[in-house]
Amino acid sequence: MTLETSIEYVKGIGPERAKLIRSILGMTTVEDLLNFYPIRYLDKSKIYKVSRLHEASQEIQLKGRISQVQEIQNGKTKRLSAKFSDDTGTMDLVWFQYSKWLKEQLPVGREVYIFGKVNFFNGQFSMPHPEIEAEEKKENDNRLKPIYPSSEKLVKRGLNQRFFQVVLKNICKEIPELIQENLPGYITKAFGFLSRQHTYLNIHFPKDTEHAEKADHRLKFEESFFFQLGYGLKKRHHKTHSRGNPFPVIGKHFTDFYDHCLPFDLTGAQKRVLKEIRQDMKKPVQMNRLLQGDVGSGKTMVALLTMLIAMDNGFQSCLMAPTETLAQQHYNGIKDLLQDTPVNVRLLTGSTKASERKIIHQELESGELSILVGTHAILEDKVKFHKLGLAVIDEQHRFGVAQRAKLWAKNSIPPHILVMTATPIPRTLAMSFYSDLDVSVIDEMPVGRKPIITAHRREKDRTYVYNFCRDEIKKGRQVYFVYPLIEESETLDYKNLMEGLEHVMDAFSDYNVSMLHGRMKPDEKDAAMNYFASGKAEIMVATTVIEVGVNVPNASVMVIESAERFGLSQLHQLRGRVGRGAEQSYCILMTSDKLTTESRTRIRTMTETNDGFKISEVDMQLRGPGDILGTQQSGVVDFKKLDLVKDSAIIKTTKKAVEKILDKDPLLSLPEHQLIKSYYLRYYRGKNKWSKIS
Ligand code: ADP
Ligand code: MG
Repeated sequence: MTLETSIEYVKGIGPERAKLIRSILGMTTVEDLLNFYPIRYLDKSKIYKVSRLHEASQEIQLKGRISQVQEIQNGKTKRLSAKFSDDTGTMDLVWFQYSKWLKEQLPVGREVYIFGKVNFFNGQFSMPHPEIEAEEKKENDNRLKPIYPSSEKLVKRGLNQRFFQVVLKNICKEIPELIQENLPGYITKAFGFLSRQHTYLNIHFPKDTEHAEKADHRLKFEESFFFQLGYGLKKRHHKTHSRGNPFPVIGKHFTDFYDHCLPFDLTGAQKRVLKEIRQDMKKPVQMNRLLQGDVGSGKTMVALLTMLIAMDNGFQSCLMAPTETLAQQHYNGIKDLLQDTPVNVRLLTGSTKASERKIIHQELESGELSILVGTHAILEDKVKFHKLGLAVIDEQHRFGVAQRAKLWAKNSIPPHILVMTATPIPRTLAMSFYSDLDVSVIDEMPVGRKPIITAHRREKDRTYVYNFCRDEIKKGRQVYFVYPLIEESETLDYKNLMEGLEHVMDAFSDYNVSMLHGRMKPDEKDAAMNYFASGKAEIMVATTVIEVGVNVPNASVMVIESAERFGLSQLHQLRGRVGRGAEQSYCILMTSDKLTTESRTRIRTMTETNDGFKISEVDMQLRGPGDILGTQQSGVVDFKKLDLVKDSAIIKTTKKAVEKILDKDPLLSLPEHQLIKSYYLRYYRGKNKWSKIS
């Protein structure tokens, strides 16, 4: 047997079951099975009592006797049922699919252990498809029995816990031949790890709880370690191999702007981040920096100043936003700020007119145009720069890696990349996922901002909420009403919005209402935006199109309808549309009366904190890291054991360990690192194409 051996040759499996396992669980080799870890262990010393069951869908073991086996015909379907009694009570056992053999072989009357998940139905507990073991077989068993991930489908086809336990027992006998060490002795020793062979033995058949935990810990460590190693190698490779244009100069454009046009003092955090960026761009190595900063923390100004540095060094820049509205707004803002300077800025989006487009193309190629703001349109092949030195990408999670790569190709030496995101990423996630990027954080809001007051209100409070809005409008402020986007049904979504609009128009018939939604054409959107931004409309009714970046400082109230339907990061983004001016701002979360535990947690988190990082931590706990990063990237955090929420300590430790190794031995050429290297090359190289070690 080797790790590559097909599972059909494992004792106890055979071709038929191998096929099933392949199709249901996607496992094909002995190695796959070895890495099919138990989700938990059943303590065999623990036996539940029928009368004391109080929780459904938990896997448990009971001891007692089976009686009254009978087949029950129900229309076309048949099921097998039996009673199970211990000294405290009786419950039903039921099989929806079963063989004649099972029906005849049920050990009626004898003392047995049954094992499975209990259901609670019609006030009674029952256990579907229990596994049954006669008592005498149990004596010389382990005390901790592995429980593997299972499903009804598997169990019905006979691939139950017992099956996996037997199969893995057979495989585990071969561990001395199968499993090789992959960490150097000094690490296993320093961390007090089990050997790798003992790790596998104990993850499947632990000697005791302590050994199970040790095995678990080492497997987590390994996952994190090799993942970090991959990123570490990538980063180092990048820093030594990828050329970039050095920007050594701080020149006239930057200085003039800084001294004469800056409308406010930079916050300490903005200054610090700018310094970090500047240090990066001085070097002849491409910068890859992630700029994280909460909504309203002033990322745009940092981007603009960075672009001016590029200009001082003879390079062009572009700023790319995910939507037309946002691009337009960036353009307007930047144009305003630069109005007393000779800097040439233009906007390129899908709806840019051909005549303007022509000018842009010409000025880009001649080098006359210094800053191009736009959408994906910038990525088109026709768009050629004279010397692109810096690309700023706003709201990174909406752009794919492939699109970023297109930007790289726009200059013979790739431009520096600054990615800005207002979705704060939990620290552990940033540490593992973004360890290929350098991260700068703006963790300070401009002075004078008042924290937004957030309240949770229900339908019965609607009149009160409307009166509150009216009072704010009387003070000269503006109000947003936002309706959720129901992705499955755009039509329903639209209907919601229209009803909402009518409702708001009725209630505020003495005011002007503007409306913005995704179906509108770009110029309609602009018109709607301007109607509100110019102050002509007191109220904006919108779907989540306004989520990203929209900036109307005079708006002080954000009413989010059906707030329970929004995710946390979305709520936070929406809330960030207010609180942009000097006035006290409010966010009102309207929900129905009935809330799930999860939506209640979301709403409570919103009312308790304005801190984007805290919110993202809660979000990650609720949804898991994959969802936070988006489907595109969720594969990256597809760990078997490692939990990015709970295992932050392990992630930290491995990161340190990896850095120490790579500092000392960047190509993994020392003898003590050969185990790491060969394991890495075997398992990880394919996944990280960039890695150049051999
Ligand atoms: P975000 O980080 O969400 O993109 P913006 O760059 O849009 O934030 O900035 C939000 C608002 O704060 C803008 O109106 C901007 O002009 C203002 N602003 C940015 N930096 C400062 C500062 N240092 N002091 C005062 N206001 C600032
Ligand atoms: Mg922004």
